[in-house]
Amino acid sequence: MSKVLSRLTFGLALAVLSQPLAALAATPADTVITGGPIYTADDARPKAEAVAVSAGRIIYVGDRAGAQALIGPKTELIDLKGASLYPGFTDSHVHLDGVGDRELTLNLEGSHSAAEVAARVKARMPSVKPGEILFGRGWIETGWPEKRFLQASDVDAFSADTPILLERADGHALVANTAALRRAHIDATTKAPFGGAILKDEHGQLTGMLVDNAMSLVEGLIPAKTDARRKEALKVGMQVEVRYGWTGVHFMSAPWADVLALEDMARTGEAPLRVYSAVDLKDAPKLFASGPRSVGDDRITTRAIKLYADGALGSRGAALFEPYSDAPGVTGLLRYSAETLAPVMAEAAKDHIQVCTHAIGDRGNAMILDLYAAALTKAGPDARWRIEHAQHIRPVDIPRFAKLGVIASMQPSHAIGDLHFAAARLGLDRLTGAYAWKSLTDTGAVVAGGSDAPVERGDPMIEFYAAVARKDLKGLSGPGWRPEEALSRAQALKLFTANAAFARFAEKDLGTITVGKRADLTAFNVDLMTAPEADILKGKAQLTIVDGKVVYRAPGA
Ligand SMILES: [Zn+2]
Repeated sequence: MSKVLSRLTFGLALAVLSQPLAALAATPADTVITGGPIYTADDARPKAEAVAVSAGRIIYVGDRAGAQALIGPKTELIDLKGASLYPGFTDSHVHLDGVGDRELTLNLEGSHSAAEVAARVKARMPSVKPGEILFGRGWIETGWPEKRFLQASDVDAFSADTPILLERADGHALVANTAALRRAHIDATTKAPFGGAILKDEHGQLTGMLVDNAMSLVEGLIPAKTDARRKEALKVGMQVEVRYGWTGVHFMSAPWADVLALEDMARTGEAPLRVYSAVDLKDAPKLFASGPRSVGDDRITTRAIKLYADGALGSRGAALFEPYSDAPGVTGLLRYSAETLAPVMAEAAKDHIQVCTHAIGDRGNAMILDLYAAALTKAGPDARWRIEHAQHIRPVDIPRFAKLGVIASMQPSHAIGDLHFAAARLGLDRLTGAYAWKSLTDTGAVVAGGSDAPVERGDPMIEFYAAVARKDLKGLSGPGWRPEEALSRAQALKLFTANAAFARFAEKDLGTITVGKRADLTAFNVDLMTAPEADILKGKAQLTIVDGKVVYRAPGA
């Protein structure tokens, strides 16, 4: 284990243990919180009436009377006014830069048709200066009357000279208009790079749709981010997160420049959110060289790399053993070969760097489990490598997660979006191992919960609801949704608290409301343990507290 990490974990353990707990609790608290149900996610004491905090740490969890003794003249009293308190909610899979960019660029979320996307793009055109490109993201064709992907011809009529790139919500495909295709020298004869696809219509003409690695063909059109713009996106992204009630995120595919920007912001007190980052493959050598790193008393920690096995189910990029049920002969894309991934994993194992690999299809998941099994013999039993999404797994592969100590990092909202078309893509039989978070939990695997924002909205209430209800936002489900994969409320709470903490090696410090841990806390105006399912979706964050400081307070809370 590296020096940085041993300081992080052992230093803290000593600081806490060297003082008896009674002494910790004898000083007046900085903050005492009461006035609503408190759910700790700590099996030793699942419920409490009061929490006291001093110097950013929890010093008391118990009944109101006990907390009374800790109130001094300077103690701040927080009344939950009936809201319920939880360990700080953590989103275990977020693209923080994308969450900020979504606010700062054309946001196409919630478009109900290709025609609506076109109208929104057209409305934006007058603000695009000559020579600039227009970048939008967030469209998803599920439920569109056109029953097809977006295509260049939807926007070509009003964008003769302006390149337009419109990314699908899952980030695994984009549509380039004809001006963008021309600028990037892509025509009907262009060969797609490995792990990518350039879609054509039945006449062999480009549709504009570039899938997975083919998106790199137009990357050069996007102007490089300035440092100021990068920080602006991160700042806006962090504000969005704390408003939702997230105290922490695991930032997936973090560009190295973003890691440095976040570290800067932590030093100057501009990082209200706790961020654990997994850097992109191209930046992996930089993290291997630096080793695990942490700034601002664990506010910004970077200890992981993000790899990709395959694409996404919606765009038929997820790698399957058998062809897609609705596309004969198509089995999806492996984005990197085993030969490319294995040496990277070996290096990570040597350098104590956690590996987080995107895998959606059953073939993608199996390939990564095989590669992990080989690499983990060198990384040791506590490497805690993760598979991101772990969406569709052969039943025979489900127990391998627990056996290998591989964490399944899953996004419940993906299931309730995808299950509308997953039966078409996979057929009912193959849905047995799809979004199987209960089966994974039952076999002893740690399942960490997240949203994949901006692919999904990033609202913890939607994620919690999806995990326990396994119905869409209107309360509907269909054949193959497998309600038996729903989690109990207590299990779902752990997805976003205790399990999220374990998935970033921070269970000694985070994840439960327990004396000695950091005071990262979230209050919602809904009791997630008892509210009727539909009411969960009406919940809103009331208070977001990081290291004992209120970083978001809802109006009136
Ligand atoms: Zn993602």
